[in-house]
Amino acid sequence: MRAAYWYGKKDVRIEEIADSQPGPGQVRLRVKACGICGTDLHEYNEGPFLIPSRPHPLTGMDKGPVILGHEFSAEVESIGQEVDDFTGGERVTVNPLLYCGVCPYCRSGEFNMCVKLGTIGLAADGAFAEYVVVPGDTLHRLPDNVDDVAGAFVEPLAVAIRAVKRSRLEIGQTAAVIGAGPIGLLVLQALINCGASRVFVVEPMPQRRKLALELGAVDTVDPTVVDPGKQIATWTENLRVDRAFECVGNQNAFDTAVKVTGRRAVICQVGMALTPTSVNFLRLWGHEKEITTSSGYSSEFPAAIALLSEGRVNIDPLVTSKIPLGQLVEKGFEVLADSRQDQIKVIVEPGMH
Ligand SMILES: [Zn+2]
Ligand SMILES: [Zn+2]
Repeated sequence: MRAAYWYGKKDVRIEEIADSQPGPGQVRLRVKACGICGTDLHEYNEGPFLIPSRPHPLTGMDKGPVILGHEFSAEVESIGQEVDDFTGGERVTVNPLLYCGVCPYCRSGEFNMCVKLGTIGLAADGAFAEYVVVPGDTLHRLPDNVDDVAGAFVEPLAVAIRAVKRSRLEIGQTAAVIGAGPIGLLVLQALINCGASRVFVVEPMPQRRKLALELGAVDTVDPTVVDPGKQIATWTENLRVDRAFECVGNQNAFDTAVKVTGRRAVICQVGMALTPTSVNFLRLWGHEKEITTSSGYSSEFPAAIALLSEGRVNIDPLVTSKIPLGQLVEKGFEVLADSRQDQIKVIVEPGMH
């Protein structure tokens, strides 16, 4: 089969490798669609970040080479011993979290807090390949009306749903999303589904602001032209918003989240900030603002599948290109790394030639 191996930063190679067979408890999947995540892009541009640099306690993965890709849909191809729930041919998506199952966090169902946490596509081979072998208990079936591309959005939508949960949004509250990339646009839609009254989006790129309006934002702000704090204050009778979601991962975006929020607000850090962010607590203290973080997902996959199946989240406008595996670098990573190209989500279809 063909697979894209990450060897190091700016070094991803498409290779022909021997087919692996599922061991006990495992299944082998034919990959249908796999989204390129911001994490994959970080690993390509400047990694390793989440690719283990010493042997991973669950998988032994060490420095790669590793096949990236953790947002995907697939078809069950063959089944190892001790997997009873599948017979082959089922359409599925995979919760890529690898966890020990025995630590106190796993025992209480907080899988993303596992002390040995790993992710398929970082600490084990992922889905930028024609086939992938995964533990059988990672599978979630896809309803017929969630197509293969939508199936590749279950994972990022689970991220968005968890972010809204972590913010403790209450029905009728106002919110702001900072950054209208794939995660920001999914957080926007999750907020609307959770009963946010009005959601504002702060985003410098015009195409993305337009998309945010189409997907339900009441208004958008271009932070390169106006001060987002002042603008949102005028729209909210100076109250500003109750919840802000930092979906970029840098100092500027965090500062914006502080500015647009009002009294007793919660700022949820969703974007992965690779460099330290500084916080002036004096600007939070008087208004008792809270900062929280949201990392991945734990049990949000069924909710994400249900929202897609019920048509309550629209992913179609987020898909800006579909490419074959062989073009992962040229039409995937390189295009996404170029900020002049306004790509939102690039989907890799290993079956496409
Ligand atoms: Zn991801
Ligand atoms: Zn654990």
